[in-house]
Amino acid sequence: MLTLRKRVLIIGGGPGGRFSYMTLRRMGEKSLSIVMNEDPTVICSLPYGVGRKLIPGGPEEEVVDLANSDRLPPEIVEDAIRGVVTELDAENHIARGTSTEGPFEIHFEKVLLAPGAVPWLPSVKGLLSDKEGYMRDLTEIMVGSEYVSKEKLAENIFVMRGADDARALDAFAEKSDQAVVVGSGAIGLEVVEALHDRGLAVTLVEALPHLIAAMDMDMAGKVSERLSEWGVSIYKNIQLTEVRSDRVVLSDGTEIKTDGVVFATGVRPNVKLARSAELSIERGIVVNEKMQSSHPDIYVVGDAAQISDAVTGRPILPLIGTLAMRQGLVASANIMGKEMFLPPATVWGLSAIFDLHWGSVGWTEELANTLGIQVFSITLPYHTREKAMVNGKEGLWKVVVSASDEKGLKKGQIIGFQVVIDGESPLFLTERFIDIITRRETVSGLFSHYFVHSPYHNTVEDPYLMLLFAAQEAMAH
Ligand SMILES: Cc1cc2nc3c(=O)[nH]c(=O)nc-3n(C[C@H](O)[C@H](O)[C@H](O)COP(=O)(O)OP(=O)(O)OC[C@H]3O[C@@H](n4cnc5c(N)ncnc54)[C@H](O)[C@@H]3O)c2cc1C
Repeated sequence: MLTLRKRVLIIGGGPGGRFSYMTLRRMGEKSLSIVMNEDPTVICSLPYGVGRKLIPGGPEEEVVDLANSDRLPPEIVEDAIRGVVTELDAENHIARGTSTEGPFEIHFEKVLLAPGAVPWLPSVKGLLSDKEGYMRDLTEIMVGSEYVSKEKLAENIFVMRGADDARALDAFAEKSDQAVVVGSGAIGLEVVEALHDRGLAVTLVEALPHLIAAMDMDMAGKVSERLSEWGVSIYKNIQLTEVRSDRVVLSDGTEIKTDGVVFATGVRPNVKLARSAELSIERGIVVNEKMQSSHPDIYVVGDAAQISDAVTGRPILPLIGTLAMRQGLVASANIMGKEMFLPPATVWGLSAIFDLHWGSVGWTEELANTLGIQVFSITLPYHTREKAMVNGKEGLWKVVVSASDEKGLKKGQIIGFQVVIDGESPLFLTERFIDIITRRETVSGLFSHYFVHSPYHNTVEDPYLMLLFAAQEAMAH
């Protein structure tokens, strides 16, 4: 058995683990191991590989292969163990597992746990099979409340989380005519577009009354319209109950013929190892602002970590790659003895479907209502250029504002932002609202946000003042 002694052990080779590795190396840590159970890739671009939007003919046409690129430090070749940690003995500071070379044991001083999240699938008939599935790897999914090896997925049932998932879906797209995608979050929609671009007839099934849970019905409706214009069939407010070899069955008995099904029905934090280490777990693994778990020598970053929402103080699972990397920086600095705290955060996302770009930050009006938070909202048109310019595009943006001083919120506090723009990126507005929302600013604080104008880039109407005036009017009534 391979036995190693390292000061720091990183478990997981996703963005959280890899960025932590790079940071620890940059900060001078030399006694380091990272255990990775799948090919390092840029997960966010997986649907774009399937949709053939990566550089054609290039080595990364299908998936971005970080193992064979110069985007990771060269030392990682020696420091990486290709395998799975199966037990984390926190008391004795030992991690045990199996690698491609056999069993191993690593004695550590500090652990940086970055096990991410696993695709979650509803427990429907026909999902799993005793036959060999499409995966021969070491990753898992969650079906209902059980962790299940990905190898158990029945033929032509897919998820989208790692490089092998994308490769399998790519091969399916090559030989198929029709597909059903279940779930209409960013990943589901990106997969819909990818399969459509590969020439498949795509049907989207969503259990909620409208697409994109991160948006309100009025904003998400624009996305629905765009999908329908592009020929995607949509079933909303209905559940998939069974998968058969050539069709799926919905809860009202509707049958849809299909060659395969992609489940983009969300993820769950991977808390398996945290359980074996007896860490505190609620919605995810509980951490403080230093990304330290309930055990002082175990730090947790990324999708497995539960953090406190800057808006409401509630525990949240943001599931954001860029946040996993920031958390990796914070955890690494603390491991290196330099005290650092995670800046306030919330949930956010940005995507595009058939050139309709959408983003959201913080809380929707619908979710606020469900939680009994008193809010009002303002929706304004957005013109991407001076109105007389020929290259202008149109959009809508919506802001959700707390209507009272209660539940830890201030009256006038901006708690949510949503945007839909046709043919143009709303990145800058989305990022500005991440700052506004996580810093708990009220509408009157909008006065302090300047905007830059040039006719080629935007209209002369200051969006922040437009919003401030609209909010003042709404609050006066
Ligand atoms: C298709 C897709 C598109 C996305 N697009 C975006 C985007 O545009 N922007 C954005 O910010 N975020 C995006 N995300 C979310 C982002 O990818 C995740 O937030 C991010 O991957 C989380 O990083 P992580 O390191 O915490 O976890 P992961 O990426 O899940 O990595 C964890 C790794 O640890 C491994 N692991 C788990 N347990 C063990 C063990 N015991 N031993 C060894 N290894 C283990 C896992 O198999 C996995 O390889 C997207 C996600 C998907 C799936």
